[in-house]
Formats: sequence, structure tokens, C-alpha cells
Amino acid sequence: MPMQFSVLADTFERLERTTSRTQMLLYLVELFKKTPKESIDKVVYFLQGKLWPDWRGYPELGVGEKLLIKAASLALHVPESRVEALAKRLGDVGSAIERLKAERERGGARPAGLLAFIPEAQRRAAEGLTVERVYDTLARIAFATGEGSREIKLKLLASLLSEAKPKEAKYIARFVEGRLRLGVGDATIVEALAVVFGGSAAMKPVVERAYNLRADLGMIARILAERGIEALKAIKPEVGVPIRPMLAERLSDAAEIMKKLGGRALVEYKYDGERAQIHKKGDKVWIFSRRLENITHAYPDVVEMARENIRAEEAIVEGEIVAIDPETGELKPFQVLMHRRRKHDVYAVMREIPVAVFLFDALYVDGEDLTVKPLPERRRVLERIVVQTERWRLAEGMVTDSAEELEKFFLRAVEDGAEGVMAKALHDRSIYQAGARGWLWIKYKRDYKSEMADSVDLVVIGAFYGKGRRGGKFGALLMAAYDPETGTFKSVCKVGSGFTDEDLEKLDELLAPYIRSSKPPRVDSTMKPDVWVEPALVAEIIGSELTLSPIHTCCHGWVKPGAGISIRFPRFIRWRPDKSPEDATTTKELYEMYLRQLRKIKEEAGAGEA
Ligand code: ATP
Repeated sequence: MPMQFSVLADTFERLERTTSRTQMLLYLVELFKKTPKESIDKVVYFLQGKLWPDWRGYPELGVGEKLLIKAASLALHVPESRVEALAKRLGDVGSAIERLKAERERGGARPAGLLAFIPEAQRRAAEGLTVERVYDTLARIAFATGEGSREIKLKLLASLLSEAKPKEAKYIARFVEGRLRLGVGDATIVEALAVVFGGSAAMKPVVERAYNLRADLGMIARILAERGIEALKAIKPEVGVPIRPMLAERLSDAAEIMKKLGGRALVEYKYDGERAQIHKKGDKVWIFSRRLENITHAYPDVVEMARENIRAEEAIVEGEIVAIDPETGELKPFQVLMHRRRKHDVYAVMREIPVAVFLFDALYVDGEDLTVKPLPERRRVLERIVVQTERWRLAEGMVTDSAEELEKFFLRAVEDGAEGVMAKALHDRSIYQAGARGWLWIKYKRDYKSEMADSVDLVVIGAFYGKGRRGGKFGALLMAAYDPETGTFKSVCKVGSGFTDEDLEKLDELLAPYIRSSKPPRVDSTMKPDVWVEPALVAEIIGSELTLSPIHTCCHGWVKPGAGISIRFPRFIRWRPDKSPEDATTTKELYEMYLRQLRKIKEEAGAGEA
């Protein structure tokens, strides 16, 4: 039996009405139990508010508010102005369509608009909308591009809205507008899948690992539903489907780093560029960013280098793309690379700002999943398959067991324009932990001439209007850390300094798409900003030190009852468009940074007394 879209719409409504994660989990479990195998991928994508993973690079729906209103007016047989006015009053077009449809139904009206004339559509309306039909129609809307596509999109959407029941129409409209904010994170979907298809939440790590190896939750759900949990346990990476990147912990003391890594480490330059996961299959090359966007189009030069200099039929390797000086070959900072990324004519800018690629890992080669192998083995494979050239090389590195040597190498790295070093474990358990931040990789960065050992990446959750010269415009931001346990964003500090005039000028435009009239569901903050902001934008922040504060919710009560962890004198450094909100510094990391700071203060005080 095909699944009715109304089942999904009912679940959306229930999800929207709760903020309790346990409750959300129950609703999802109930939903997945009712979902036929062949629709599970689509249901998962709908829950994620998308039609497919972003990295596929397929076209967007391309339906703005205007077109949506027009489609609603056609479907409901009411003037556009009526839909528009009601949308303004109710807050969104979806609610307006729902209300208008419900009124019609109560009035006992015959099917309106297009429907009245098309018997085929009438028949379908009587059968009810299925998940498949809604999905397929939306996909057709997205793929309608080029000349005449606006008309096609309009007709398809109007027919969908006219067939839909009021509640269904509301959610279709919200989905189309990108406003389906259910507050369900991937972690909750993963857990529900584990419960339904794996038998219990204890299977969560299996589903999680599969999702880390293939960043397509719909695909994972489908494999799970069709072939069971055992198939998922045996899953390997697939060329063309990005793997979630392994991430590093941070420390700023060479001796401590050596100790953590078991006394021996591979130390490499930490290049200040853009992380690239490069996939190759025959002549075809894909490049995925740190946040798994398909960035192949931005680097035709890297595509060429990969095609020519990887000696394997199929491979997934990782490296850092760095801008270099065309004359001297010197490394340029991240900002220069981002400048290149903003230019439209890639081919012209390629000569102006050339890049080099520094490779540091091999994750999959010719059928073999290397993520489960220790680092020395992965490195050996990398060395074997990579043909090195001046601009396509292995990351500069050395193996050492001495903290002193590490320190010297760190200074050399900084001198050469790197951000610092990455120290990596070499023991038997040094596997590639896809999607995890762990102690197998430790980053040691030069600091920013500040007392805080390292900067952090925080997410904007609110904004404050400035005063005086900045009156009426945003002048400060409320920033949060990510708590992966609960999938929420917890406030850390309000930052108003470090912005250039240009940064401030652009703030309004940058924030506009994310501004909300009420607190977004995944935000946890007692401080109330002038406007709330949906977690989407990540910025690098530094301060004088970490401090305890009764106002902020990050790590609330962890160090001291009634207090959270905050940053004293926070300062904006730069935007991190390469990071998604879930990639931000976590509450746990901030807690560990706080403890390290505390230990340092104690040690220094001890040394002073002695
Ligand atoms: P940061 O904010 O410090 O750039 P991050 O949060 O993006 O770090 P981390 O795992 O904390 O990610 O740090 C590793 C990052 O450093 C990688 O994502 C990669 O982009 C970059 N990098 C540069 N050189 C190397 C290297 N030799 N090995 C691994 N990662 C490297």
C-alpha cells in the first residue's frame, strides 16, 4: 500500500508542537513503522526538509513566495491579494493556504481551479495524495529549468496544492518555501531508525557509522529497511558519496600532545585553506567540502590534478586546498582562497589565485575501505597512489617521539605560513573516525595574541540592534555552542567587537533569511536578543578567557551550580562559511577548555608561590 501524505503531515504537526526530544523520537518511531520500504528514503528527506542531500548538487526547487502565492491562488480560485493578505496576518503562506482550503471545504465547495476541469486530477484527489506523488512532483518542479520553467513549476505546484487537504497543503507550501522547521535533528532520525529497523536504540552506533561513511540518511534508511541491520554493519564508502570528515581535538602544549598520542606521532603542517575530500572513479572527479557540499565546480584545476595524479581506478583521498602566490609559491591565508571562491569566473581567477593541494589521508582505494585501518597503513597507500607534483603533494610532516622536536616543527610550520600543526596517533587503534572529533588527531594552532589559548567557532542565534551611530542596524550577536547530545544550541556570549565597518554593513543582509519572531526550537538561551536567528551562521570568536556566567546556558551547572561557561571580552575574527552549525565548537569542548585553563592558572599560581 502506498503511503498517504496525510500520515506525514500529521506527524509534522505533532513534531512541530513539541520540543521534547523523547516525544519526537516516539513520533518518528511510529512514523517509520508505518512507512513502506520503498518510501522510507523520501520520508527521511522530507523530515530533513530537503528532497535529496545537498551535496548531490541537484537544482533547488526555485519557487519563491510570489510563485507560491500565484499557485495557491490558481489552486484555490481566490485572488492572489487575498492569499497575500492572509499570509501576512497569519505569518506564512502555508497557514494562509490551509485556512483558505478549510473554509472552502466547510462551505462544501466543489474542487476548485484546475481540478474542476481535469477528471484525472479529480480521480487522484479522491484517492488522496501519496508521499511518492508529492515527492515526484516536487522533484519535477526542481528539475524544471530554463525557458518556460516558471510556467511548468506553477502548474505542477498548483495541481499539487489543489489536490492536497488543508493540512497537507500547509506543509507542502512550507516545504517549498524552505520553512519546514520541525526541530528534528539527524541524531533523532538516526536513533528512530535504529529502534525500528535494528530492534533497539543500542543499534544507534551502527546506523551512525553507516551515515558517517555515506552522508545520505535517506540511502541509509533504505538499505536498513530493505536489507536489515547486518547489511548496514558491512557497509563501505562509495565513490561519489561523501564521508563525514574526521576531526581533531585541540591542545596548546607539545608535551601534553605527545602524552595524549601515546608517545609517538605523525606531525604535519596544519594548512590554512579549505578541506577537500577528493573522489575519483575512472576519469570522473568529485570534490566535497568540510561540510559536504559539492565544490567540484569551484576547482577545475584540482579536478585536473586529481585525474592525472591518482594511480587508482577508484579512490577517496583527503587534503587541504591552499591558495598560493603565483610568483613565489608561498602559502596564502584562507581569506585569499575565499576571495577566489566568491568570484564567478573560475577560469579567470584560477590564474590569478592558483592553489596547491596538500594530501593527508586515503579513505578508500579500489574496493578497500581504509577507514578501518590504522594511520600508518593509510599513509602507505596514500604514498603509493599519489604522484607528487609541485602543486599536488603530500602534507609536510615528520614522525617524532619528542615534544621538543614537535615544538620546533610547529615553529617552522608557522614560519612557512601554516596555522600550526596537526599531530596524529600512529598506534594500532589509529583508525579514521569518520564524523567524530577525537584524540587521535590533535591540532596545535598558533594563538591570536590573546590569553585564550585558542579561538572557538560559535553559531549565531540572535542579534541586537546597535546604539548611536549604529542605531537601527545590528551591532552585536548572540553566539552559541552546539550540544550534540540534545541537538541544541546553547548561548555562550554576546559579541559586539572585532567587526570591521564592512562586516557590520553586511550583517543585515547576511542575517535576513534566518531571522525569526520567536525562539527557534533548537535554541537554548535565557538571554533574549532583539531578534532571534535560526542557527545557520558560524563565526570564529576569540576572547581574553573563559569565564563563568549565570546568564549563559552553555554547560550550565557543570562547573558551578547556577552558572554556565562564557567568554570574557569576546571578539569576532571571521565568518566560517565552510562550517555548518553542527560543526561548531561543542559544549563539551568548551568545558574541557575551561578545565585546562583552570589547571594552567593553578599551575602558574603554584609556580609563583614556589
Ligand atoms: P579549524 O577551525 O581549526 O580549521 P576545524 O574545526 O575545521 O578546524 P578540525 O578537525 O578541528 O577542523 O581541524 C582540522 C582541520 O584542519 C581540517 O578540517 C582541515 O581542514 C585542516 N587541516 C590542515 N592541514 C591538515 C592536515 N595536515 N591534516 C588534517 N587536517 C588538516
